[in-house]
Amino acid sequence: MTTSWTRALLVRLFWLTLICLPVGLLTGHLAWTLVFGLVVYVSWTLRQLLWFHNWLIDNPSADLPDARGIWGEIFSTIHRQRQSAARRQHKLQEIIDQIQASTAALSEAVVMIDRQGRLQWWNASADRLLGLRNPADKGQHVTSLIRDPRFVTYYETGSHSEPLSLDSPTSKNTHLQFAITRYGQGERLMIVRDITRLHNLELMRKDFVANVSHELRTPLTVVIGYLETLLDNEDVLASRWKRAMLQMQTQASRMHTLLNDLLLLSRLETTDTTLDEEPVSVHLLLTRIRDDALAFSGERQHRITLANETEQPLIGIAGELRSAFSNLVFNAVKYTPDGCAIQIRWWSDGAGAHMSVTDDGPGIAPEHIGRLTERFYRIDSSRNSHTGGSGLGLAIVKHVLLRHQARLEIISEEGTGSCFICHFPARRLVPMDQALGE
Ligand code: ADP
Repeated sequence: MTTSWTRALLVRLFWLTLICLPVGLLTGHLAWTLVFGLVVYVSWTLRQLLWFHNWLIDNPSADLPDARGIWGEIFSTIHRQRQSAARRQHKLQEIIDQIQASTAALSEAVVMIDRQGRLQWWNASADRLLGLRNPADKGQHVTSLIRDPRFVTYYETGSHSEPLSLDSPTSKNTHLQFAITRYGQGERLMIVRDITRLHNLELMRKDFVANVSHELRTPLTVVIGYLETLLDNEDVLASRWKRAMLQMQTQASRMHTLLNDLLLLSRLETTDTTLDEEPVSVHLLLTRIRDDALAFSGERQHRITLANETEQPLIGIAGELRSAFSNLVFNAVKYTPDGCAIQIRWWSDGAGAHMSVTDDGPGIAPEHIGRLTERFYRIDSSRNSHTGGSGLGLAIVKHVLLRHQARLEIISEEGTGSCFICHFPARRLVPMDQALGE
Protein backbone atom coordinates (compact mmCIF):
# COMPACT_ATOMS: atom_id res chain seq x y z
CA MET A 1 0.00 0.00 0.00
CA THR A 2 2.78 2.44 0.93
CA THR A 3 4.65 1.90 -2.39
CA SER A 4 1.47 2.44 -4.45
CA TRP A 5 0.78 5.67 -2.53
CA THR A 6 4.38 6.83 -3.17
CA ARG A 7 4.01 6.02 -6.84
CA ALA A 8 0.68 7.90 -7.05
CA LEU A 9 2.31 10.91 -5.35
CA LEU A 10 5.24 10.85 -7.80
CA VAL A 11 2.80 10.56 -10.76
CA ARG A 12 0.89 13.62 -9.49
CA LEU A 13 4.08 15.65 -9.12
CA PHE A 14 5.16 14.50 -12.62
CA TRP A 15 1.83 15.68 -14.14
CA LEU A 16 2.05 18.98 -12.26
CA THR A 17 5.55 19.57 -13.64
CA LEU A 18 4.41 18.51 -17.14
CA ILE A 19 1.53 21.04 -17.07
CA CYS A 20 3.57 23.85 -15.49
CA LEU A 21 6.59 23.37 -17.80
CA PRO A 22 5.00 24.51 -21.16
CA VAL A 23 2.98 27.25 -19.39
CA GLY A 24 6.18 28.52 -17.77
CA LEU A 25 8.12 28.32 -21.04
CA LEU A 26 5.36 30.16 -22.94
CA THR A 27 5.00 32.92 -20.33
CA GLY A 28 8.73 33.12 -19.69
CA HIS A 29 8.22 32.62 -15.92
CA LEU A 30 9.11 28.97 -15.52
CA ALA A 31 10.18 29.18 -11.85
CA TRP A 32 7.10 31.20 -10.80
CA THR A 33 4.79 28.85 -12.68
CA LEU A 34 6.33 25.84 -10.95
CA VAL A 35 6.03 27.61 -7.56
CA PHE A 36 2.40 28.48 -8.36
CA GLY A 37 1.66 24.86 -9.32
CA LEU A 38 3.20 23.62 -6.06
CA VAL A 39 1.24 26.13 -3.99
CA VAL A 40 -2.00 24.95 -5.67
CA TYR A 41 -1.08 21.34 -4.93
CA VAL A 42 -0.12 22.03 -1.29
CA SER A 43 -3.36 24.03 -0.75
CA TRP A 44 -5.40 21.13 -2.15
CA THR A 45 -3.56 18.73 0.13
CA LEU A 46 -4.12 20.98 3.16
CA ARG A 47 -7.85 21.16 2.35
CA GLN A 48 -8.03 17.35 2.26
CA LEU A 49 -6.13 17.24 5.55
CA LEU A 50 -8.65 19.62 7.11
CA TRP A 51 -11.54 17.45 5.91
CA PHE A 52 -9.76 14.42 7.24
CA HIS A 53 -9.34 16.06 10.64
CA ASN A 54 -13.01 17.13 10.72
CA TRP A 55 -14.26 13.68 9.77
CA LEU A 56 -11.88 11.76 12.03
CA ILE A 57 -12.04 13.85 15.19
CA ASP A 58 -14.91 16.33 15.14
CA ASN A 59 -17.59 14.36 13.34
CA PRO A 60 -16.71 10.66 13.32
CA SER A 61 -20.27 9.52 12.60
CA ALA A 62 -20.55 11.57 9.36
CA ASP A 63 -20.58 9.85 5.96
CA LEU A 64 -17.31 9.05 4.26
CA PRO A 65 -16.06 12.34 2.63
CA ASP A 66 -15.86 12.34 -1.16
CA ALA A 67 -12.11 12.42 -1.79
CA ARG A 68 -9.96 11.12 -4.59
CA GLY A 69 -6.47 9.76 -4.97
CA ILE A 70 -4.32 9.17 -1.93
CA TRP A 71 -6.77 10.95 0.36
CA GLY A 72 -9.63 8.91 -1.01
CA GLU A 73 -7.68 5.75 -0.18
CA ILE A 74 -6.79 7.01 3.32
CA PHE A 75 -10.45 7.86 4.00
CA SER A 76 -11.78 4.52 2.78
CA THR A 77 -9.07 2.49 4.60
CA ILE A 78 -9.82 4.20 7.90
CA HIS A 79 -13.55 3.90 7.24
CA ARG A 80 -13.20 0.14 6.68
CA GLN A 81 -11.10 -0.27 9.84
CA ARG A 82 -13.65 1.72 11.81
CA GLN A 83 -16.50 -0.42 10.53
CA SER A 84 -14.76 -3.69 11.39
CA ALA A 85 -13.82 -2.36 14.88
CA ALA A 86 -17.46 -1.37 15.41
CA ARG A 87 -18.59 -4.83 14.30
CA ARG A 88 -16.10 -6.48 16.70
CA GLN A 89 -17.22 -4.23 19.55
CA HIS A 90 -20.85 -5.01 18.81
CA LYS A 91 -20.12 -8.74 18.85
CA LEU A 92 -18.21 -8.48 22.17
CA GLN A 93 -21.03 -6.41 23.65
CA GLU A 94 -23.48 -9.11 22.56
CA ILE A 95 -21.36 -11.79 24.28
CA ILE A 96 -21.09 -9.68 27.46
CA ASP A 97 -24.85 -9.04 27.39
CA GLN A 98 -25.52 -12.77 26.98
CA ILE A 99 -23.18 -13.66 29.88
CA GLN A 100 -24.77 -11.00 32.07
CA ALA A 101 -28.27 -12.13 31.12
CA SER A 102 -27.47 -15.80 31.88
CA THR A 103 -25.74 -15.02 35.21
CA ALA A 104 -28.62 -12.70 36.10
CA ALA A 105 -30.96 -15.67 35.65
CA LEU A 106 -28.89 -17.84 38.06
CA SER A 107 -30.38 -18.54 41.46
CA GLU A 108 -26.84 -18.28 42.91
CA ALA A 109 -25.46 -14.83 43.65
CA VAL A 110 -22.43 -14.01 41.47
CA VAL A 111 -20.23 -11.10 42.58
CA MET A 112 -17.11 -9.84 40.82
CA ILE A 113 -14.58 -8.25 43.17
CA ASP A 114 -11.58 -6.21 42.00
CA ARG A 115 -7.99 -6.43 43.24
CA GLN A 116 -8.65 -3.95 46.06
CA GLY A 117 -11.64 -5.96 47.28
CA ARG A 118 -14.23 -3.53 45.85
CA LEU A 119 -17.47 -4.73 44.24
CA GLN A 120 -17.32 -4.42 40.44
CA TRP A 121 -20.44 -6.21 39.24
CA TRP A 122 -23.09 -8.57 40.62
CA ASN A 123 -26.28 -10.24 39.44
CA ALA A 124 -29.85 -9.80 40.64
CA SER A 125 -29.64 -12.80 43.03
CA ALA A 126 -26.87 -10.98 44.92
CA ASP A 127 -29.31 -8.13 45.61
CA ARG A 128 -31.77 -10.65 47.02
CA LEU A 129 -29.39 -12.93 48.98
CA LEU A 130 -26.83 -10.38 50.19
CA GLY A 131 -28.95 -7.23 50.22
CA LEU A 132 -26.66 -5.39 47.77
CA ARG A 133 -28.03 -2.18 46.25
CA ASN A 134 -27.32 -1.50 42.61
CA PRO A 135 -25.60 0.88 41.82
CA ALA A 136 -25.17 2.43 45.31
CA ASP A 137 -22.85 -0.36 46.55
CA LYS A 138 -20.67 -0.42 43.42
CA GLY A 139 -17.05 0.28 44.43
CA GLN A 140 -17.72 -0.49 48.12
CA HIS A 141 -15.34 -2.89 49.88
CA VAL A 142 -16.88 -6.37 50.20
CA THR A 143 -16.11 -6.61 53.94
CA SER A 144 -17.90 -3.34 54.63
CA LEU A 145 -21.06 -4.88 53.16
CA ILE A 146 -20.76 -8.42 54.57
CA ARG A 147 -19.47 -7.66 58.06
CA ASP A 148 -19.77 -11.04 59.78
CA PRO A 149 -16.33 -11.60 61.43
CA ARG A 150 -16.25 -15.18 60.09
CA PHE A 151 -16.64 -13.85 56.53
CA VAL A 152 -14.00 -11.16 57.10
CA THR A 153 -11.50 -13.79 58.35
CA TYR A 154 -12.43 -16.12 55.46
CA TYR A 155 -11.99 -13.31 52.93
CA GLU A 156 -8.75 -11.99 54.39
CA THR A 157 -6.94 -15.29 54.99
CA GLY A 158 -6.89 -15.69 51.22
CA SER A 159 -7.15 -19.48 51.20
CA HIS A 160 -10.62 -20.31 49.96
CA SER A 161 -10.19 -24.05 49.41
CA GLU A 162 -13.31 -24.80 51.52
CA PRO A 163 -16.61 -22.90 51.22
CA LEU A 164 -17.94 -20.96 54.21
CA SER A 165 -21.49 -21.30 55.57
CA LEU A 166 -23.19 -18.33 57.25
CA ASP A 167 -26.58 -16.80 57.94
CA SER A 168 -27.69 -14.36 55.26
CA PRO A 169 -27.00 -10.71 56.16
CA THR A 170 -30.61 -9.95 55.13
CA SER A 171 -32.48 -12.74 56.94
CA LYS A 172 -31.65 -14.97 59.89
CA ASN A 173 -33.78 -17.76 58.38
CA THR A 174 -31.71 -18.00 55.22
CA HIS A 175 -28.45 -19.90 55.30
CA LEU A 176 -25.80 -19.17 52.68
CA GLN A 177 -22.67 -20.87 51.43
CA PHE A 178 -19.86 -18.61 50.17
CA ALA A 179 -17.23 -19.83 47.68
CA ILE A 180 -14.51 -17.53 46.37
CA THR A 181 -12.28 -18.16 43.34
CA ARG A 182 -9.35 -16.01 42.29
CA TYR A 183 -8.86 -15.05 38.65
CA GLY A 184 -6.93 -12.55 36.52
CA GLN A 185 -4.47 -10.48 38.54
CA GLY A 186 -5.90 -10.78 42.03
CA GLU A 187 -9.56 -10.29 41.16
CA ARG A 188 -12.05 -12.62 42.86
CA LEU A 189 -15.32 -14.20 41.84
CA MET A 190 -17.66 -14.89 44.73
CA ILE A 191 -20.50 -17.37 44.30
CA VAL A 192 -23.12 -17.52 47.04
CA ARG A 193 -25.67 -20.37 47.25
CA ASP A 194 -28.82 -20.53 49.31
CA ILE A 195 -28.40 -23.76 51.33
CA THR A 196 -31.29 -23.19 53.75
CA ARG A 197 -33.02 -26.46 52.83
CA LEU A 198 -29.85 -28.51 53.22
CA HIS A 199 -29.01 -26.69 56.45
CA ASN A 200 -32.47 -27.38 57.89
CA LEU A 201 -32.24 -31.07 56.92
CA GLU A 202 -28.83 -31.26 58.60
CA LEU A 203 -30.27 -29.60 61.72
CA MET A 204 -33.15 -32.10 61.69
CA ARG A 205 -30.68 -34.98 61.48
CA LYS A 206 -28.63 -33.61 64.40
CA ASP A 207 -31.77 -32.97 66.46
CA PHE A 208 -33.04 -36.45 65.70
CA VAL A 209 -29.78 -38.11 66.83
CA ALA A 210 -29.66 -35.93 69.95
CA ASN A 211 -33.31 -36.64 70.83
CA VAL A 212 -33.05 -40.39 70.25
CA SER A 213 -29.86 -40.60 72.32
CA HIS A 214 -31.46 -38.57 75.07
CA GLU A 215 -34.67 -40.61 75.11
CA LEU A 216 -32.74 -43.91 75.16
CA ARG A 217 -30.58 -42.86 78.08
CA THR A 218 -33.29 -42.99 80.75
CA PRO A 219 -34.57 -46.55 80.03
CA LEU A 220 -30.97 -47.70 79.69
CA THR A 221 -30.07 -46.23 83.08
CA VAL A 222 -32.97 -48.19 84.60
CA VAL A 223 -31.78 -51.44 82.93
CA ILE A 224 -28.18 -50.85 84.10
CA GLY A 225 -29.44 -50.09 87.63
CA TYR A 226 -31.46 -53.34 87.86
CA LEU A 227 -28.62 -55.39 86.40
CA GLU A 228 -26.27 -53.95 89.01
CA THR A 229 -28.73 -54.76 91.83
CA LEU A 230 -29.22 -58.29 90.55
CA LEU A 231 -25.49 -58.90 90.19
CA ASP A 232 -24.87 -57.45 93.66
CA ASN A 233 -27.21 -60.12 95.02
CA GLU A 234 -25.52 -63.12 93.44
CA ASP A 235 -26.87 -65.47 96.11
CA VAL A 236 -30.47 -65.04 94.96
CA LEU A 237 -29.43 -65.36 91.31
CA ALA A 238 -29.47 -68.78 89.70
CA SER A 239 -25.89 -69.54 88.58
CA ARG A 240 -27.00 -70.32 84.99
CA TRP A 241 -28.21 -66.70 84.64
CA LYS A 242 -25.05 -65.11 85.99
CA ARG A 243 -23.03 -65.29 82.75
CA ALA A 244 -25.94 -63.89 80.74
CA MET A 245 -26.42 -61.09 83.27
CA LEU A 246 -22.73 -60.18 83.13
CA GLN A 247 -22.86 -60.02 79.34
CA MET A 248 -25.98 -57.89 79.48
CA GLN A 249 -24.20 -55.53 81.85
CA THR A 250 -21.15 -55.21 79.53
CA GLN A 251 -23.34 -54.53 76.49
CA ALA A 252 -25.55 -52.09 78.38
CA SER A 253 -22.53 -50.14 79.54
CA ARG A 254 -21.22 -50.09 75.92
CA MET A 255 -24.57 -48.71 74.82
CA HIS A 256 -24.36 -46.12 77.58
CA THR A 257 -20.92 -44.99 76.33
CA LEU A 258 -22.23 -44.86 72.77
CA LEU A 259 -25.22 -42.70 73.74
CA ASN A 260 -23.01 -40.38 75.77
CA ASP A 261 -20.60 -40.03 72.83
CA LEU A 262 -23.49 -39.37 70.40
CA LEU A 263 -24.89 -36.71 72.71
CA LEU A 264 -21.47 -35.11 73.12
CA LEU A 265 -20.95 -35.08 69.32
CA SER A 266 -24.32 -33.48 68.67
CA ARG A 267 -23.62 -30.87 71.35
CA LEU A 268 -20.27 -30.12 69.73
CA GLU A 269 -22.01 -29.65 66.38
CA THR A 270 -24.82 -27.42 67.54
CA THR A 271 -23.67 -25.17 70.38
CA ASP A 272 -21.79 -21.89 70.18
CA THR A 273 -18.07 -22.23 70.87
CA THR A 274 -17.09 -18.91 72.33
CA LEU A 275 -19.49 -18.88 75.31
CA ASP A 276 -17.60 -21.21 77.68
CA GLU A 277 -14.04 -20.38 76.68
CA GLU A 278 -11.57 -19.68 79.47
CA PRO A 279 -7.82 -20.09 80.15
CA VAL A 280 -7.30 -23.83 80.73
CA SER A 281 -4.23 -25.14 82.60
CA VAL A 282 -3.50 -27.96 80.18
CA HIS A 283 -0.51 -29.23 82.21
CA LEU A 284 -2.79 -29.88 85.23
CA LEU A 285 -5.48 -31.39 83.01
CA LEU A 286 -2.95 -33.80 81.49
CA THR A 287 -1.61 -34.77 84.92
CA ARG A 288 -5.12 -35.86 85.93
CA ILE A 289 -5.66 -37.69 82.64
CA ARG A 290 -2.34 -39.52 83.06
CA ASP A 291 -3.41 -40.66 86.58
CA ASP A 292 -6.80 -41.83 85.25
CA ALA A 293 -5.08 -43.68 82.39
CA LEU A 294 -2.73 -45.43 84.85
CA ALA A 295 -5.78 -46.53 86.85
CA PHE A 296 -7.54 -47.61 83.62
CA SER A 297 -4.50 -49.65 82.55
CA GLY A 298 -4.36 -51.28 86.00
CA GLU A 299 -2.84 -54.73 85.78
CA ARG A 300 -1.99 -54.24 82.12
CA GLN A 301 0.96 -52.21 83.37
CA HIS A 302 1.34 -49.59 80.63
CA ARG A 303 4.29 -47.28 81.21
CA ILE A 304 2.63 -43.87 80.88
CA THR A 305 4.88 -40.79 81.10
CA LEU A 306 3.98 -37.13 80.91
CA ALA A 307 6.29 -34.33 79.69
CA ASN A 308 4.77 -30.95 80.51
CA GLU A 309 7.21 -28.60 78.75
CA THR A 310 5.08 -25.49 79.22
CA GLU A 311 2.68 -24.25 81.85
CA GLN A 312 1.14 -21.69 79.52
CA PRO A 313 -2.66 -21.88 79.73
CA LEU A 314 -4.69 -22.40 76.58
CA ILE A 315 -7.88 -20.49 75.81
CA GLY A 316 -10.53 -23.14 75.31
CA ILE A 317 -13.40 -25.12 76.76
CA ALA A 318 -12.02 -27.22 79.61
CA GLY A 319 -14.61 -30.03 79.40
CA GLU A 320 -14.15 -30.46 75.65
CA LEU A 321 -10.35 -30.44 75.87
CA ARG A 322 -10.55 -33.07 78.63
CA SER A 323 -12.73 -35.27 76.38
CA ALA A 324 -10.40 -34.93 73.39
CA PHE A 325 -7.16 -35.54 75.31
CA SER A 326 -8.68 -38.42 77.33
CA ASN A 327 -9.85 -40.10 74.12
CA LEU A 328 -6.33 -40.04 72.70
CA VAL A 329 -4.66 -41.25 75.90
CA PHE A 330 -7.28 -43.93 76.62
CA ASN A 331 -7.11 -45.11 72.99
CA ALA A 332 -3.36 -45.61 73.45
CA VAL A 333 -4.10 -47.78 76.48
CA LYS A 334 -6.95 -49.64 74.75
CA TYR A 335 -5.21 -50.37 71.47
CA THR A 336 -1.68 -51.25 72.62
CA PRO A 337 -0.60 -54.52 74.26
CA ASP A 338 0.06 -54.77 78.00
CA GLY A 339 3.19 -53.06 79.24
CA CYS A 340 3.60 -50.74 76.22
CA ALA A 341 5.16 -47.29 76.64
CA ILE A 342 2.88 -44.29 76.18
CA GLN A 343 4.26 -40.77 76.19
CA ILE A 344 2.10 -37.68 76.65
CA ARG A 345 3.75 -34.37 75.73
CA TRP A 346 2.58 -30.76 75.98
CA TRP A 347 4.75 -27.99 74.53
CA SER A 348 4.64 -24.64 72.75
CA ASP A 349 6.78 -23.05 70.02
CA GLY A 350 6.53 -20.30 67.41
CA ALA A 351 3.83 -22.19 65.53
CA GLY A 352 1.54 -22.55 68.57
CA ALA A 353 0.83 -25.16 71.25
CA HIS A 354 0.93 -28.90 70.76
CA MET A 355 -0.22 -31.97 72.68
CA SER A 356 0.92 -35.40 71.55
CA VAL A 357 0.29 -38.99 72.60
CA THR A 358 2.89 -41.46 71.34
CA ASP A 359 2.79 -45.20 71.83
CA ASP A 360 4.93 -48.12 70.75
CA GLY A 361 1.92 -50.33 70.03
CA PRO A 362 0.89 -52.13 66.81
CA GLY A 363 0.53 -48.94 64.73
CA ILE A 364 -2.04 -48.25 62.01
CA ALA A 365 -1.87 -49.19 58.30
CA PRO A 366 -1.68 -46.13 55.97
CA GLU A 367 -5.03 -46.88 54.27
CA HIS A 368 -6.88 -46.38 57.59
CA ILE A 369 -5.18 -43.19 58.77
CA GLY A 370 -7.21 -40.77 56.60
CA ARG A 371 -10.52 -42.30 57.71
CA LEU A 372 -9.96 -42.67 61.47
CA THR A 373 -11.87 -39.49 62.38
CA GLU A 374 -15.02 -40.63 60.51
CA ARG A 375 -17.93 -41.60 62.77
CA PHE A 376 -18.05 -45.31 63.57
CA TYR A 377 -14.91 -46.00 61.57
CA ARG A 378 -13.06 -48.91 63.12
CA ILE A 379 -10.00 -50.73 61.93
CA ASP A 380 -11.06 -54.00 63.46
CA SER A 381 -14.64 -54.07 64.76
CA SER A 382 -14.20 -57.33 66.67
CA ARG A 383 -11.28 -55.75 68.55
CA ASN A 384 -13.36 -52.67 69.26
CA SER A 385 -16.25 -54.61 70.73
CA HIS A 386 -13.67 -56.25 72.94
CA THR A 387 -12.22 -52.87 74.01
CA GLY A 388 -15.66 -51.31 74.42
CA GLY A 389 -15.03 -48.49 71.92
CA SER A 390 -17.94 -46.72 70.21
CA GLY A 391 -16.02 -45.74 67.07
CA LEU A 392 -16.82 -42.11 67.86
CA GLY A 393 -13.74 -41.22 69.95
CA LEU A 394 -11.61 -39.70 67.18
CA ALA A 395 -14.65 -38.00 65.59
CA ILE A 396 -15.13 -36.24 68.95
CA VAL A 397 -11.43 -35.29 69.01
CA LYS A 398 -11.72 -33.83 65.50
CA HIS A 399 -14.81 -31.77 66.39
CA VAL A 400 -13.33 -30.45 69.61
CA LEU A 401 -10.18 -29.41 67.75
CA LEU A 402 -12.21 -27.75 64.98
CA ARG A 403 -13.99 -25.67 67.61
CA HIS A 404 -10.56 -24.57 68.87
CA GLN A 405 -9.22 -23.81 65.33
CA ALA A 406 -6.81 -26.68 65.93
CA ARG A 407 -6.05 -29.78 63.86
CA LEU A 408 -5.21 -33.41 64.47
CA GLU A 409 -2.11 -34.97 62.92
CA ILE A 410 -1.77 -38.76 62.92
CA ILE A 411 1.62 -40.32 62.29
CA SER A 412 1.73 -44.07 62.42
CA GLU A 413 3.53 -47.04 60.98
CA GLU A 414 2.48 -50.63 61.34
CA GLY A 415 4.68 -52.42 63.82
CA THR A 416 6.34 -49.31 65.31
CA GLY A 417 3.55 -47.42 67.03
CA SER A 418 1.39 -44.32 66.60
CA CYS A 419 1.60 -40.64 67.38
CA PHE A 420 -1.50 -38.40 67.61
CA ILE A 421 -0.71 -34.67 67.74
CA CYS A 422 -3.15 -31.81 68.41
CA HIS A 423 -1.84 -28.52 66.97
CA PHE A 424 -3.36 -25.34 68.46
CA PRO A 425 -2.83 -21.89 66.91
CA ALA A 426 -0.48 -19.53 68.82
CA ARG A 427 -3.29 -17.00 69.37
CA ARG A 428 -4.96 -19.47 71.78
CA LEU A 429 -1.98 -19.44 74.17
CA VAL A 430 -2.06 -17.07 77.14
CA PRO A 431 1.33 -15.25 77.35
CA MET A 432 3.31 -16.44 80.41
CA ASP A 433 3.55 -12.96 82.05
CA GLN A 434 -0.24 -12.63 81.80
CA ALA A 435 -0.75 -16.19 83.13
CA LEU A 436 1.50 -15.47 86.15
CA GLY A 437 -0.32 -12.21 86.83
CA GLU A 438 -3.68 -13.98 87.14
P1 ADP B 1 -13.27 -45.90 69.69
O1 ADP B 1 -14.11 -44.85 70.31
O2 ADP B 1 -14.03 -47.12 69.30
O3 ADP B 1 -12.02 -46.18 70.43
P2 ADP B 1 -11.89 -44.16 67.92
O4 ADP B 1 -12.60 -43.26 66.97
O5 ADP B 1 -11.32 -43.56 69.14
O6 ADP B 1 -12.88 -45.33 68.26
O7 ADP B 1 -10.72 -44.89 67.12
C1 ADP B 1 -10.94 -45.39 65.81
C2 ADP B 1 -10.02 -46.53 65.52
O8 ADP B 1 -8.67 -46.06 65.55
C3 ADP B 1 -10.08 -47.63 66.55
O9 ADP B 1 -10.95 -48.61 66.06
C4 ADP B 1 -8.69 -48.18 66.63
O10 ADP B 1 -8.59 -49.31 65.80
C5 ADP B 1 -7.82 -47.09 66.01
N1 ADP B 1 -6.89 -46.50 67.00
C6 ADP B 1 -7.11 -45.39 67.73
N2 ADP B 1 -6.04 -45.10 68.50
C7 ADP B 1 -5.12 -46.05 68.26
C8 ADP B 1 -3.80 -46.31 68.72
N3 ADP B 1 -3.20 -45.53 69.64
N4 ADP B 1 -3.13 -47.37 68.22
C9 ADP B 1 -3.72 -48.17 67.28
N5 ADP B 1 -4.97 -47.97 66.79
C10 ADP B 1 -5.67 -46.93 67.26
